[in-house]
Amino acid sequence: MVKIVADRERCAGSGMCALTAPAYFDQDDEDGLVLLLADEAADDAGEVADAVQLCPAAALGFA
Ligand code: SF4
Repeated sequence: MVKIVADRERCAGSGMCALTAPAYFDQDDEDGLVLLLADEAADDAGEVADAVQLCPAAALGFA
């Protein structure tokens, strides 16, 4: 398992992560910023790696 981190200070609210890996990411109803639904992913959870790559604000990563 790998730990997922999301930096809400950097998040621009684009929603790409929630579209790419909806089991792991959502957007806050209030401010549109990323919400982590799970803070760990299996090493082979490719959609999480895709979301990290696709985030336009570089707000996502692995710890
Ligand atoms: S893709 Fe990045 S900028 Fe967009 S909502 Fe997710 S964390 Fe925020």
